[in-house]
Amino acid sequence: MSEKIIPLLLAGIIFLTSCNKTAYNGEPRNKSFFAMDTYMSITAYGKNAEKALNRAEEKVSELENLWSVTRENSEIYRINHSNGESVHVSPETAELIDFSLEISEITGGALDCSIYPVLTEWGFTTGDYKIPTDERLSELLDYTNYRKINFNGESVQIPENMQIDSGAVGKGYTGDLITEILEKNGIESALLDLGGNIQTVGKKPDGTEWKIGLRSPFDEGNFATLEISDCAVITSGGYERYFTGEDGETYWHILDPKTGKPAHSGLVSVTVIGGEGRLCDALSTSLFVMGIEKATELWKTRSDFEMIAVTDDGKIYLTAGIEDKFSLNQLYGNLHTEVIYR
Ligand code: ADP
Ligand code: MG
Repeated sequence: MSEKIIPLLLAGIIFLTSCNKTAYNGEPRNKSFFAMDTYMSITAYGKNAEKALNRAEEKVSELENLWSVTRENSEIYRINHSNGESVHVSPETAELIDFSLEISEITGGALDCSIYPVLTEWGFTTGDYKIPTDERLSELLDYTNYRKINFNGESVQIPENMQIDSGAVGKGYTGDLITEILEKNGIESALLDLGGNIQTVGKKPDGTEWKIGLRSPFDEGNFATLEISDCAVITSGGYERYFTGEDGETYWHILDPKTGKPAHSGLVSVTVIGGEGRLCDALSTSLFVMGIEKATELWKTRSDFEMIAVTDDGKIYLTAGIEDKFSLNQLYGNLHTEVIYR
């Protein structure tokens, strides 16, 4: 074979395989990867799905480089190690912080992105769990206060010793940005699972709604199914990350910023459903801290989310707007369901 034919043949093979890759046969494309400390899986339908998914993964990695608390070049890292200096941030980080602060205000401080040092003290960031002393907690709570964050829309300044993280909101906001990318690339149907945060684009390709299982806080099963489209379904549960202390008590990773201890509001799981991932993510954590009464009060003032809350004594509260989309799994008939109306 002459030397000229080989490159030509190769080019032919590459051309054929790339054609084959882009031809859309109605099957979904999937991308699964580990990022932001969790397992992410995105499934998209449509002829541009492959390209859209690649862009989505790139975006996640870009955001992780901005928000990681441990990567030395991330913007959050730079804020946390700035010794009180102001740090200029990207539009994405600005939006993350702006949004966090807004939700802290409307939830009476149940959400506080400066809880991070307390979370570290409990070992939730490393897996090296321990119960902090009350003295240590009160020391750390001196600089847990989102109101001390100075943010002017472009730069962030926090007092020395304070540290912030994106734990409660970052994945939801990431879902919103991925959704935007998929839609810009012409995707009309997709399902995002970002470490258990579910976000959907459109309906399933056959025009029916997505069926989403809701994990029981009491065992491994799903206590209910939701049929939804074009929205986020995000749960915060005490069962997601916890340890048993030497005293035999269970300690979980959702903390009450007022005490620095795991939140005990009577709720063991809160699912928030709405159009915006960032809102659902931020609220699932905050409502868990606030408890059912305050959560209900907040729901009555807004029309951009619905919730499903499970109490430690096995009661399910669901807001009126989600009632028609909710079906209880028969095996969980012992859980008493109550609908909350406006
Ligand atoms: P996950 O991200 O584990 O799925 P959540 O959305 O409920 O679950 O967020 C819990 C995370 O948020 C914790 O791991 C921690 O980083 C952070 N966090 C815990 N309590 C609070 C709080 N009161 N305010 C803000 N962030 C919190
Ligand atoms: Mg959350």
